[in-house]
Amino acid sequence: MSRKKETLPAGRQVVMSGIRPTGFLHLGNYFGAVRNYVRMQEEYECYFMVADLHSLTTHPDTKELKENVHRVLSENIACGLDPDKVALYCQSHVHETAELYLYLNMLAYKGELEKTSTFKDKARQQPDNINAGLLTYPVLQTADIILHRAKYVPVGKDQEQHLEMARNFVNRFNHRYGEVFPEPVAFNFGEELIKVPSLDGAGKMSKSENQLATLYLSDDDEQITKKVMKAKTDAGPAMPKSPRPDYIENIFLLMKLVSDDAVVKKFDEDYNNCSIRYGDMKKQLAEDMIKFITPIREKTEAIRNNHQYLKAVMEKGAEKARKSARATIELARQAMGLNYF
Ligand code: ADP
Repeated sequence: MSRKKETLPAGRQVVMSGIRPTGFLHLGNYFGAVRNYVRMQEEYECYFMVADLHSLTTHPDTKELKENVHRVLSENIACGLDPDKVALYCQSHVHETAELYLYLNMLAYKGELEKTSTFKDKARQQPDNINAGLLTYPVLQTADIILHRAKYVPVGKDQEQHLEMARNFVNRFNHRYGEVFPEPVAFNFGEELIKVPSLDGAGKMSKSENQLATLYLSDDDEQITKKVMKAKTDAGPAMPKSPRPDYIENIFLLMKLVSDDAVVKKFDEDYNNCSIRYGDMKKQLAEDMIKFITPIREKTEAIRNNHQYLKAVMEKGAEKARKSARATIELARQAMGLNYF
């Protein structure tokens, strides 16, 4: 069995991340993931994929899959991702993923997979479809990442536990077969990982749950205003510098993402001296949110209707990804002793 030590190729660090095509992209996807993709594309070797295979664990009906794949690609590009700089591809176009997933499955234990909080949540949400893919979701995700021997994974806070599991699987592989893969880490330019809260103050913004409390990059002005104005507030603080309840803190957090510093500062001061008017604050937030979302929505629509262009993007991305995937699979097979010639 070959136990050759393999280090990363010299040059740029490798980055990998993915988004499931299970619906419309929202503010959480943008600030938790896509914004960092765009910031990383200049300096790193980036692989970003549409995780269509992952979506089958929760969305077995594929009627809308093609449209959703086109949408996610278009939204990523509209947010500033450049398919000439990164490998932007579909997971199912790179078959090496499935091979690596198979190998990693032999290193993942039923007990640890059953303890994963996303598995427990999903099992509760879909009691009639607790499929093996749902259980091994973190294994497939690890395969996606290490297929390119990526070190940095730009993701939101909800993915922390999966990254921890990915490191465990990597360490097990390296320990058993030799050092092939770097340990992947979640990445947000040295800042805390982000969780964009839903507007009802209960949980996070999400593609497929909580739709009325989630701001989508495709929402029109009226939808944005309606959702923001409905965000939960109260009568305001009774004492100067009172602590903020979660749902109020969430509105400030959203404002910090899209409004100017001076605007946030004004409402901060109003809160601290008990003169805050939440109606005004939400109106301002809705206005700033519209300014932020409108150009992305308009660009997305133009790209989404250009099927020729999207096909070319997918083909080019898959080609780049396959090249890196084939090299990794070769190393993994060698290390595992699956070389009989
Ligand atoms: P969703 O949960 O909306 O279906 P995905 O599972 O496809 O999204 O995740 C795509 C990326 O978006 C991941 O990096 C994830 O961490 C990030 N993300 C999703 N929701 C949020 C959120 N509310 N806040 C921050 N990041 C998020």
